Amino acid sequence: MILYANIKSFKVVNDIFGNEFGDYAIRCFAEKIKKQFTPRCVYGRLGGANFGFLVPKDEFDADKITNALSLINVKRGSIRYPIQVQIGVYEVDREEPDVSTMFADARIALTTIEKDDSARIAYYDDKLRNEILWNQEITAQIDEAIKNRDIRPYLQPIVDREGNIVGCEALCRWIHKEKGFLAPFKFIPSLEKNGMIAEVDKYMWRCACEILADWKRRGWDMFISVNISPKDFYYLDVPKFIKGLVEEHKVDPKKLRIEITETVMINEADKIVAIMEEFRSYGFIVEMDDFGSGYSSLNMLKSLPVDLLKIDMNFLGKTDDEQKADTIVKNVINLAMDLGMIALTEGVESQDQFDALSKMGCNLFQGYYFSKPISIEDFDELVIVKRK
Ligand code: C2E
Ligand code: CA
Ligand code: CA
Repeated sequence: MILYANIKSFKVVNDIFGNEFGDYAIRCFAEKIKKQFTPRCVYGRLGGANFGFLVPKDEFDADKITNALSLINVKRGSIRYPIQVQIGVYEVDREEPDVSTMFADARIALTTIEKDDSARIAYYDDKLRNEILWNQEITAQIDEAIKNRDIRPYLQPIVDREGNIVGCEALCRWIHKEKGFLAPFKFIPSLEKNGMIAEVDKYMWRCACEILADWKRRGWDMFISVNISPKDFYYLDVPKFIKGLVEEHKVDPKKLRIEITETVMINEADKIVAIMEEFRSYGFIVEMDDFGSGYSSLNMLKSLPVDLLKIDMNFLGKTDDEQKADTIVKNVINLAMDLGMIALTEGVESQDQFDALSKMGCNLFQGYYFSKPISIEDFDELVIVKRK
C-alpha cells in the first residue's frame, strides 16, 4: 500500500507559532511514524508537511494507522497544539503505473477529504479514477462544445395563476457527440470545481439575450431567468458583465431575471447583498433560488434585496407529514407577499398542487405539470399553440 500523509493546515502552525515550532511538530510526527511501522515498511518525508509510506499489505491496518497518526499533541514549553493528519491510500495491484504516479494518486485520494475535518483516510479507487478522467475529458471539451453550441439552453415555462406562459428559466443541456444528452448534474459540479462554469454561464446569459432580442422582434413579452453559479463571482464582475450583454443585445434588463441560489448566502452574505443591489440598480429583477433548501435565516430575509422568492416543492412538498409541509409552503408564500416579493413555486407536478398553491396566493409556477425544460424550437411552438 502506498500512503501519502499530510499535516493539515501546517502553514497556520508555522504562521502562528513560528517555524521552529513547525519544525519541531514535523519531528514529533516523524517519531510517531517510526514507532508505528516495522522495518519491512519504507517511509520518509516527501517535502513540506508531507510524508510517504510503503506498507506491505499484510501489515496494513487502517484503523491502527489512523488512530496512531491522525491526531498528535505537540507540546513545547508553554505551547500545546494538536496537529491533524490525513492520509491518502493507493493500493498497488499491478506493476503499472510507475511509483511516482501511484504517489500522485494517493495524494489525489487525500485531496477528496481535505475540506472534511472529520475524515482521516481516503482511498484511490476506480470510481475516483473515472471521476478524474471524466473531469479532464469535459474540461478539455468545454470550449469546443460551447463554440459548436453542443451546450445550449433548454427553456422551462413559467406560468401565472391562469396558466399563461409569462416567461421561462434557461437550463443548460449538453448534447454530447459521443455520450448523448447530458443533464447539468453530469458536468456542472466538475466545472464549478475548476472554475470553467463561468465560461458556460457567460455563454448561457448571452444565449438568453439573443433569445430575448428575437422575442422582442416578434413582439413577445416574456422574461428569461438565468442561473448564476456562486463560483461565477470569483471570476468576473457578474453585474457589469450581464449589464454589458443586455446593452449589446438592446434588451430590457427587466426581461432578464437573475437567479441567485440561497446557498451563497452562507459565507458571503454581505458581498452577495451588494451584488444584488447592483443588479437592481441596473433594472434587473433578482430572484432567490432554492429558497428553503439551505440557509434561510429569517433575519437575513428582511435585508435581502430580492424581488422574488423561488420555493422548491422538492424540498418542502415530499415529507411524511404533508399537512406540515403545506403549512410551511403557505406561510413562506405569505411571508414573500408581506415583504413585497413575488412568490414562485418550482417543481409543481400535479393539478392538485397547482390548485392548492394558487389558493395559497402563489403568483408564479414552474414544473413538469406545465412542461419539462424543452428546446428553444419546442418552446416557440408551445407559445404559438397556447396563443391560438
Ligand atoms: P435549479 O436552478 O433549481 O433548476 C430547477 C431544476 O428542477 C431543473 O433541473 C429542472 O429540470 C428541475 N425541475 C423542473 N420542474 C421539475 C419538477 O416538476 N419536478 C422535478 N423533480 N424537477 C423539476 P436541471 O435542468 O437538471 O438543473 C439542475 C440544476 O443545475 C439547476 O437547478 C441549477 O442549479 C443547475 N443549472 C442548470 N443550468 C445551469 C446553468 O446554465 N448555469 C448554472 N450555473 N447552473 C445551472
Ligand atoms: Ca434556478
Ligand atoms: Ca431552483
